Amino acid sequence: MGKSNFDVIVVGAGFAGLYMLYKLRELGLSACVLEKADDVGGTWYWNRYPGARCDIESVEYSYSFSPELEQEWEWSERYASQPEILRYLQHVANRFDLRRDIRFNTTVTRARWQEKEAGWQVDTDQGDTLTARFCIFGTGCLSSPNRPNIPGLDNFGGDIFVTGLWPHDGVDFTGKRVAVIGTGSSGIQSIPVIARQAQHVAVFQRTPNFVVPAQNRPLEDHEQAEIKLTYRDLREQARHSIGGVARGAAPSPRPALATPPEDLRRELDERWEFGGLGGFLNSHPDTVFDEKAADCIAAYLRMRVRGIVQDPATAELLCPTTYPVGSKRLCVDIGYFETFNRDNVTLVDLHAYPIDRITEKGVVAGGDLHDVDIIVLATGFDAMTGALGRIDIRGRDDQALADKWSAGPRTYLGLMAAGFPNMFTITGPGSPSVISNMVTSIEQHVDWIGGLLADLHDAPQTVIEAMPEAEEVWTAHVTAVAEPTIFMQANSWYLGANVPGKPRVFMPYIGGVGTYRAICEAVAAQGYPGFARDGKGKAALPDFFSFLPMPA
Ligand code: NAP
Repeated sequence: MGKSNFDVIVVGAGFAGLYMLYKLRELGLSACVLEKADDVGGTWYWNRYPGARCDIESVEYSYSFSPELEQEWEWSERYASQPEILRYLQHVANRFDLRRDIRFNTTVTRARWQEKEAGWQVDTDQGDTLTARFCIFGTGCLSSPNRPNIPGLDNFGGDIFVTGLWPHDGVDFTGKRVAVIGTGSSGIQSIPVIARQAQHVAVFQRTPNFVVPAQNRPLEDHEQAEIKLTYRDLREQARHSIGGVARGAAPSPRPALATPPEDLRRELDERWEFGGLGGFLNSHPDTVFDEKAADCIAAYLRMRVRGIVQDPATAELLCPTTYPVGSKRLCVDIGYFETFNRDNVTLVDLHAYPIDRITEKGVVAGGDLHDVDIIVLATGFDAMTGALGRIDIRGRDDQALADKWSAGPRTYLGLMAAGFPNMFTITGPGSPSVISNMVTSIEQHVDWIGGLLADLHDAPQTVIEAMPEAEEVWTAHVTAVAEPTIFMQANSWYLGANVPGKPRVFMPYIGGVGTYRAICEAVAAQGYPGFARDGKGKAALPDFFSFLPMPA
């Protein structure tokens, strides 16, 4: 066993943990990263299902902290596939010699604040106990798979694969009859690829999703060279944008409801041809706030489904009608709807035919047995709080984070929770995180945490902590910003609605990446109001609403 005391322990070696380690080294702090997997990658290590790829353009879904790295790395496609993103993260780990401070195959089981020592004690499944002044969680927002509670699941006689925990040597679907349960991003990406190989695929759909085309393609050399010439500007724009991206269709200045139908149609056709999330999220200033405006976009997307899917009854089932477009995470596809024109694919509508149980032979829905060899669970994640909830995290007075968050997560700026001193969450609940380009948001958090740690450099015993009043104000602000939007109207994982028993609380901060950055920067510039140092702090917070571009 190596060294056991560090300035900082970081949990997770995905995009967040790797950059955090790089930053800590820059600050001259000793750090140890603990990682459950046997390699770096986080999400991109675990989600190896067929068709897995990024739904943000790779030139933007990548680190900006090193201009050299940015110039060296070549992306082969507009939206990189999982193997390519994993190779990128492996390259980053090697290029910056990060691996020597990462302990792989090590699951953190417990993290406990030690009052007397003013630091954290972290226990692992390897029997190690490590200590550090700070503990930083980079455990990801979508990293704790949600296994559905379907009766008889464990009785199935064939193989069950979970998209978020896919086997490393892949799955051969040749000649197999496959059931895919779940039609979110993971299902929508994997179903077309599985269908090309399998004998038959039965898709079990509970709620149809709004889907826009990726329009993926190889990235031409000249295009990449042009991007590289302007990378600094591009990154700067992304940092101050709404969603953490700079490229893509710009939002229309005109509300959808004020746009003549023929103009709207032309505009949406252009967005469809361009592809990607950006063209249809925040496409118009009114679509996030006004259900009728969102309906204009929804009608267009349903029209597209009907134009692709040949069987009218199947097309109707694939058209979402029960929630506003954008209120559940928009999905980006490559040939999803076309897949339902294949002879070997059937759609099972779980509203008409709910899953009764799973037997040794297959899935029984609406009384009918779907006899299959393989079940693929594309049933999502216990988002934002799930990975933290799996660790027994104890703050002051032995309070469990899980208990503190039993009615929903409470943080100050998504970075710290009151009662959990010297502990940070990278892209924690209450920050833009999943509602943004994750890499932009990760870098912003790591830089901000790095700035604070640098500030504490000359006072190595200082204990920093979110003040309860600040946490209360921020948590209320996160809810208040989400409340007037369509986001509150769907049973989405943003609201925890996909996990039975999880409190219905809107978890990410929807005020925009640029707004949130400005708030964090103002807090730092004002001497960190809302954060107590050794029990003392300024309670007078900035007026968070004043940062928003829209009326509160
Ligand atoms: P998801 O969006 O939560 O989708 C899960 C699917 O499983 C939904 O269709 C859900 O139906 C269904 N489901 C859950 N429990 C079920 C049950 N007991 N019976 C039947 N159906 C059930 O999960 P995901 O597809 O893994 O995506 C999660 C998020 O990860 C995405 O929104 C995205 O942010 C991210 N992601 C991104 C990419 C990418 O392109 N980069 C790829 C994959 C994932 P209901 O809708 O009715 O709940």
